[in-house]
Amino acid sequence: MRIPETNIFYKKADPTGLCSCTYLLMDGKRGLIIDPGGLNARRRLFRLLSEAGSKLSDIEIILLTHSHFDHASFANATKLMADARVYAHPTAGSTAHANPLSENLYWILDETVREGDVLPWPGRLTVLETPGHSPDHISFAWKDEGVLFSGDAMQVKNGHLVMPPLLIPSTIDGEAKSSYAKLIAMNRDYPTICPGHRDILRT
Ligand SMILES: [Zn+2]
Repeated sequence: MRIPETNIFYKKADPTGLCSCTYLLMDGKRGLIIDPGGLNARRRLFRLLSEAGSKLSDIEIILLTHSHFDHASFANATKLMADARVYAHPTAGSTAHANPLSENLYWILDETVREGDVLPWPGRLTVLETPGHSPDHISFAWKDEGVLFSGDAMQVKNGHLVMPPLLIPSTIDGEAKSSYAKLIAMNRDYPTICPGHRDILRT
């Protein structure tokens, strides 16, 4: 599906719950994927590409909001198939050791990004550090389009923005609350929220 008036294509999490939302951003023939998803995401990726009129080799960058398996398990397969580069927070590699929900990303990370880093394309995405749900969690702000890719730091439920559940092994409550507040404060300038699960919200 395409978000109207943007170059963002997306697929929601699948019914098994093993996948997150996956976003494909196209800039001409250059593609960037946010959170390829969990296991068995292959068919979903190809459907997404075909809806966008794109092909696997167009994907140059894979961005991970965090290392939880439902967002990151398919990153390595996507990287290998597309010959793309994987970007995540520097702690994404070590998070796996402390958290049974996380993938070990040590050996697939190509680039690390931190608060304020700007990806050169498409649309100059800015990296926001939003730890709490997991130590390595990052979100992305697309200023030109007024879009926040919140990952699991801020969720959409029944048409409302909500905190992610705190009863998750990797979660540090205080940090999760601060990160949520940080994203809520940005919502006025970023009215389109693309979360890690469920539906996109245009506020
Ligand atoms: Zn998560």
